[in-house]
Amino acid sequence: MAMPHEEIRWNPALEEWFCVRCGRTSDHVAEERARKEIDEFECMLRSVEDMNRRAREIREHLAILYQEKAAFSSPTPADDPAEYEVEELEAWEKLKQQIHVLENELAAISNQS
Ligand SMILES: [Zn+2]
Repeated sequence: MAMPHEEIRWNPALEEWFCVRCGRTSDHVAEERARKEIDEFECMLRSVEDMNRRAREIREHLAILYQEKAAFSSPTPADDPAEYEVEELEAWEKLKQQIHVLENELAAISNQS
């Protein structure tokens, strides 16, 4: 009996759905279609190599995002939103969200290994 993919989540940074357990991804935007695509494969725990590779990808991606975040000079939008344009505030929020998702995924991988 194949193991179902219990929980899939949207990754806004990579704009794809992924299974929290096995990491299989689908770039369908609609969750239903993404699930259908992901469900064509069995949910198997990632190998150590896969997890290490994914962790490395995440760290590289995070390093870029941290740099982008550091480019917001002080006061940051979090400290003083009135200093910023709407587009800048949106970019800041998106950046924070991307970092949050990737940090969570990295933490999940670290817990498995
Ligand atoms: Zn899975």
